[in-house]
Amino acid sequence: RTRSTWSVKKGFDFTLMVAGESGLGKSTLVNSLFLTDLYKDRKLLNAEERITQTVEITKHTVDIEEKGVKLKLTIVDTPGFGDAVNNTECWKSVADYIDQQFEQYFRDESGLNRKNIQDNRVHCCLYFISPFGHGLRPLDVEFMKALHEKVNIVPVLAKADTLTPGEVKKKKIKIREEIEQYGIKIYQFPDCDSDEDEDFKQQDHALKESIPFAVIGSNTVVEAKGKRVRGRLYPWGIVEVENPAHCDFVKLRNMLVRTHMQDLKDVTRETHYENYRAQCIQSMTR
Ligand code: GDP
Ligand code: MG
Repeated sequence: RTRSTWSVKKGFDFTLMVAGESGLGKSTLVNSLFLTDLYKDRKLLNAEERITQTVEITKHTVDIEEKGVKLKLTIVDTPGFGDAVNNTECWKSVADYIDQQFEQYFRDESGLNRKNIQDNRVHCCLYFISPFGHGLRPLDVEFMKALHEKVNIVPVLAKADTLTPGEVKKKKIKIREEIEQYGIKIYQFPDCDSDEDEDFKQQDHALKESIPFAVIGSNTVVEAKGKRVRGRLYPWGIVEVENPAHCDFVKLRNMLVRTHMQDLKDVTRETHYENYRAQCIQSMTR
């Protein structure tokens, strides 16, 4: 087998996790992101009610096609925290899950059948921040810090339809400042080369300014200006998930499945997995 087919094969698996407080729209968003109904096996009649509360870590795999390229995408949905009376170490089960995937990979890598390892490592974690707070809450800080050495964290501002554009802008700035202030290491978009064209640089800058991506999720299709779109219907109008004037959904999706997928995988392998591996080897030789 040639080298290229091997890397092509390796290139098309991607695992995305969602985490954060319960009720912020995590399950709805991953459903909207990949336009397939991830939760269709649940036998509920009303589509609006189809997404029920996530009570344990669940994994769904979907095959999607992006510009003619086939991708096998795995979504890891996690139960939101905040429901329990005691939220101490609510991040523990999520951190353990990530570690278990590393452990499995590490074991497979040292085994006999190294060529056909199934890579279940988590390449990216969308962390949902409430639109109702004044920036980050202590739990958000604790959660992200517990995970930031293990996984690429991409923060998102949930339910952006509950905020005005001005509020979104202010909240984003505040959250970016707090991320910096608390020393949270979120996923860093790679800097573009100096010889890159202006268009590209501008896009790159816009992407950095989007953090945390303002998102809106919906599992219903509504009619807007004669077109059927994924959106939310309110007495005063329609919020369209895929309208760039309404939220950063399209930007986030493109970042994940087109422009930065490979980098997210590279950072997972070169930084997060290497850290895990080094710790393992250290503890074995101690
Ligand atoms: P999860 O607990 O984070 O997985 O949240 P769910 O996806 O189960 O959604 C919780 C509730 O919020 C449901 O009633 C959704 O219809 C609603 N919801 C989901 N996304 C959005 C959004 O972007 N905006 C608004 N306003 N509501 C949303
Ligand atoms: Mg859920």
